[in-house]
Amino acid sequence: MAREIKIYDTTLRDGTQGEGVAFSMEDKVRIAQRLDALGVHYIEGGWPGSNPKDLRFFRRVQDAVFKTARISAFGATRRPGVRPPEDANLQALVEAGPPVVTIFGKSWDFHVTSALGTTLAENLNMIEDSVAYLLKHFEEVIYDAEHFFDGFKRNRAYALKTLLAAEGAGAHCLVLCDTNGGTLPHEIAAIIREVRDVVKPGTPLGIHTHNDAECGVANALAAVGEGIDHVQGTVNGYGERCGNANTISVIANVMLKLGLDCIPPENLRDLRDVSRFVSELANRKPWHSQPYVGDSAFAHKGGIHVSAVLKHPETYEHTDPSLVGNHRRVLVSELAGQSNILWKAREYGIDLDKNTPDARRILETLKRLEDEGFQFEGAEASFELLIERALGNDRAHFDLVGYRVIVEEENGEEEPVAEATVRLRVKGIAEHTAASGNGPVDALDRALRKALSDFYPSLAEMSLMDYKVRILDESKGTGARTRVLITSGDGNETWGTVGVADNIIEASWQALVDSIEYKLRRDDKAGRR
Ligand SMILES: [Zn+2]
Repeated sequence: MAREIKIYDTTLRDGTQGEGVAFSMEDKVRIAQRLDALGVHYIEGGWPGSNPKDLRFFRRVQDAVFKTARISAFGATRRPGVRPPEDANLQALVEAGPPVVTIFGKSWDFHVTSALGTTLAENLNMIEDSVAYLLKHFEEVIYDAEHFFDGFKRNRAYALKTLLAAEGAGAHCLVLCDTNGGTLPHEIAAIIREVRDVVKPGTPLGIHTHNDAECGVANALAAVGEGIDHVQGTVNGYGERCGNANTISVIANVMLKLGLDCIPPENLRDLRDVSRFVSELANRKPWHSQPYVGDSAFAHKGGIHVSAVLKHPETYEHTDPSLVGNHRRVLVSELAGQSNILWKAREYGIDLDKNTPDARRILETLKRLEDEGFQFEGAEASFELLIERALGNDRAHFDLVGYRVIVEEENGEEEPVAEATVRLRVKGIAEHTAASGNGPVDALDRALRKALSDFYPSLAEMSLMDYKVRILDESKGTGARTRVLITSGDGNETWGTVGVADNIIEASWQALVDSIEYKLRRDDKAGRR
């Protein structure tokens, strides 16, 4: 059997130290359940001594059943000069009452004298007393050696003494913390080897790293390489300053690269979902290029890459995306070679053989449009329409006869009013409709849908979700071309469309028309309406 690496996830405690990360109590309970289902070994729920919301969390999960994870509370060693039973922070931990407790103590002499304002000897007593006291109340006591690596570099002998104090008192695991995140992997490895020479053989060690030198995950792996089996981190690396070691990447690397046991293998493919779930609850945008689970992690753009990856994925992919619940994406761009087109076409169920006149025509159209400023990344619906039109499937659901938009401001007092008129031909019938809106594009959108709604009632399900404008060739100022990217959705699907023109109204119109045409073609194919 392979060595098993135990994951100690502190998203709910250290993760919430991250700028812009806040979880309600309900969020914390849901994340804990999700992490338990994933199969992590420990979940640090919070710091009950510093935050009443955290105490409520521990009450709330007291009777909950966790399959694999043990819940842990976090706190500091007792204050100088008091006995453990008189220390409010330790009492809050006991009151929180989970099976596991993690306390941190000072390893760096400078912090002891400057931050705690006590003597080096009293700090050792504080570590020893606190661990011994907590052992009476918890099944498992984990000791976090705060600033261990920085302390070790300044005063090696003292940093080691603090560890021995915790070990002597009976702590179940000594976690070496790179609290300021500035240590490099080779230093982590060298210092761990020195620690091993000093602690008893077999004393479990752990690692807690931060990402300030962008080595959070690398440092955790360096520690694993030195035989450490307890790794602390947070989902997506959320945490103070530049964050913590990213639990998601640690798990993937430990299992896929080091071949060690960690979470149940069948749960590995949940990594992307868990990452998304936590970013959703943290209300943070997913990180596109997040290793393993980001949208761009297996996205291919260059034509040569694409043709190679289609034949042999390992040419440009370090691992199989499906193993972590991700998937390969092929981007359409100015770099597109025929392979991208063929791949995209296949995705849309259009069969194009390489070097057929169809494939060549599509490629030429694409190059011409990209010259004009079109870009199809994020506008895959417009790209699909482009392919279909190039293949001769250009029967539109409506034809434009003309449109007009007026923006009017009266007396300079009220907000300007936009009114749009569209003239269409739909199923042989001439339609002439007007609508007003809170801007010219909104007015056009309303007029267009109003004209079409009787013919295509399913358009009521559709809405515009995002609208982006980019000025191309900015040096030309107002004479420059404008690209508009619209995201629409109907509850089943979201899609992007693009328009490019010398003026913003025309560019918006193109993207609006594509968006509606795409929706109607989708509904036809699905047999809806
Ligand atoms: Zn930390």
